[in-house]
Amino acid sequence: MAYNISKNSTSTSVKYANVFEIERYATKDGPGIRTVVFFKGCNLKCIWCQNPESQLMKPEVMYSKEQCAGCRKCIFACPNGSVEEIPPLGFISNHNTCILCGACVDACFYDARRIVGKKYTIESIMEEILKDKAFYDNSGGGVTFSGGEPLLQHRAVLELASRCKSMGIHTALETAGHVDWTVFNEIIPNMDLIFYDVKHIDEKLHKEYTGVSNRLILQNLQKLSMHFDNIVVRIPIIPKVNNTLDVQRKIYHFLLESTRVKTVELLPFHRLGAAKYSGLGRVYKMGTAKNLHKEDCRPFAEEASKLGLNVRIGAV
Ligand code: SF4
Ligand code: SF4
Repeated sequence: MAYNISKNSTSTSVKYANVFEIERYATKDGPGIRTVVFFKGCNLKCIWCQNPESQLMKPEVMYSKEQCAGCRKCIFACPNGSVEEIPPLGFISNHNTCILCGACVDACFYDARRIVGKKYTIESIMEEILKDKAFYDNSGGGVTFSGGEPLLQHRAVLELASRCKSMGIHTALETAGHVDWTVFNEIIPNMDLIFYDVKHIDEKLHKEYTGVSNRLILQNLQKLSMHFDNIVVRIPIIPKVNNTLDVQRKIYHFLLESTRVKTVELLPFHRLGAAKYSGLGRVYKMGTAKNLHKEDCRPFAEEASKLGLNVRIGAV
């Protein structure tokens, strides 16, 4: 079946979005089979972030030491002198001087370099989304807008979400909530489900571990829960950051006393993104912290449940 994807667009329509991945057949970010659109750019810098390549809005070259054969062709290929050998990291592109020409990527026979992030047209994202319409219909699935922080490009999210809604496609959003409230006001009529991150209840510690205060995030969550029913609060459980009963209890009490949120999902810490940091020339600040497992989250889940929240322990 052919769909007219230009119909029902928003009046302030945008044409492009910066996206670093479009994942098809996803099953963890909402009901059924889904397509997840990962927007590039984030205004938080969580030290445990599994997708550090999502943080900058602009595209960047990412390097994989595991695949590198050390041939140095990338250094010779770069017209700008932007590839540097930085032991022990390897052959890193300097993102301040890189002009994203792609010459180092083309020169690498070992697929050890790639440019992450791309300006997609809204039409091309819709084309990707619509490839799996039959799967959404059969599984109760749909589309999830994730990131990075998708709401930094809320006009694009709004455009995509309104087109999806007009075609009967379920829409979900993953957000850290650090945006102006007016953005939520515009977005919520086109969303069926919102995953909302709460990372710490203490403002000073939140700032230390994510780079921003939690004040706006918690205020927005309070308001959002007054206007929107289907919210799942996601709490990443991070070693030495928030993995104590005391911190978790404070978060649960906040949710119960200051919001109408009823469902939380605990996400055990995983080192999944660790290698990407060095490939981007950055430092992984979680050091040697070990992966957590579902069992590690069980006491927190029991506490949340005892207090009256619906709780599940998610997978990474
Ligand atoms: S993308 Fe181009 S400018 Fe950037 S590091 Fe590679 S070769 Fe150099
Ligand atoms: S061209 Fe590829 S394999 Fe050769 S040094 Fe550069 S990243 Fe490594």
